[in-house]
Amino acid sequence: MIPGPIEYENNVLSALAQPTISHTSKEFLSIFKQTLEKVMTIFDLREGLPFILSGSGTLAMEIGTVNFIKRDSKVLVVNTGYFGDRFVDLFSRFTKNLDVYKPPLGEAADPKIIKEKVSGNEYDLVTVTHVDTSTGVRNDVKSIAPIFKDLDTILVVDGVCSIGAEEFSMEWGVDVAFTASQKALGAPPGLAVGVVNQKAMKRMESLQPLSFFSDLRKWNNVFKAMLELKPGYFGTPNVNLITALNVSLNNIMAEGMEKRIKRHEIIAESFRAAINALGLEMIPKGAYANTLSVQYLPDGVKQGPFLDDAARYGAVFASGLIPEIREKYFRVGHMGSVGPSEIMISVGAIERALKKNGYNVKLGTGLAAAQEILFKYDQGNP
Ligand code: PMP
Repeated sequence: MIPGPIEYENNVLSALAQPTISHTSKEFLSIFKQTLEKVMTIFDLREGLPFILSGSGTLAMEIGTVNFIKRDSKVLVVNTGYFGDRFVDLFSRFTKNLDVYKPPLGEAADPKIIKEKVSGNEYDLVTVTHVDTSTGVRNDVKSIAPIFKDLDTILVVDGVCSIGAEEFSMEWGVDVAFTASQKALGAPPGLAVGVVNQKAMKRMESLQPLSFFSDLRKWNNVFKAMLELKPGYFGTPNVNLITALNVSLNNIMAEGMEKRIKRHEIIAESFRAAINALGLEMIPKGAYANTLSVQYLPDGVKQGPFLDDAARYGAVFASGLIPEIREKYFRVGHMGSVGPSEIMISVGAIERALKKNGYNVKLGTGLAAAQEILFKYDQGNP
């Protein structure tokens, strides 16, 4: 129950174990093409290009930004946690013209403030982290993105902890978005996955990229070729992982995005109800993610023993990420194939681990609250 890597379906793991076929074989070209097309569907990209590269989400952050800026371009980072800080770190190597909009901890960015900041069209690029995995805060990309439709500014969305589980569409006005294989896309870590729309492609073609491996102009030729079932080469693709991702995306398509997003919403709401009933405070102040929940430990409960006990009782959770409060909170991922059973096991483990560590809790309080939410939805969706 950590926020990635998540647990993978058996058919995804079996696909990973198949013999590695030639990356230029007809069989692999067909797998790559199908995978790229499904990536476009999941991001809801109608015109533009998808990308799938060997690397983690951090590589996706680099690819999704350095291709669209020059040295000392004017950039704004909308920072709602640890992965906003990571963008600041990344840009500090490329530009001195860096602004940061950082709402108070736990609050989402205000679309009105973003509008005020960007409407002069001065920024070359703006980044927004859809769900920051350190805080569990979900930014309202659906309201933010349309602001950029009439601007030259490129809007980049880090969807590493959202795409495949939260509502998302490039059509809202997002120019570049990406994720990594290990979270809601349901494949093991190792692939940086994303899309670029035509506005961003135009920008990219007019620039000399600041990196070699991350030069999307080179990779685009490969992806264009693959989409036409022709071999293309810049670096050897991760044949086994792409094959596994293709299977996972088939699983996602079989469930259907709308149903999948609803399932994540219900699971997240039931988990939050439990946390609330147990008297724990969440870090987000309203803008809750559906992919993970982030909450403070009660005063006096030590993180290390609590996490160890919870693991012993059946559920592995993640510690905090924000350095100043790292020891004071914990994170529970609920993305992928997570359902009511996993929520029940997790809440049960949290209750017992809290009690074991000195927190006065009546066992079953959180479970009952989660049950009520699950029951409510079940009645609405017989
Ligand atoms: N952005 C977000 C929102 C993330 O959650 C993560 C990873 N947890 C990253 C970027 C970086 O991804 P990776 O660890 O795969 O490099």
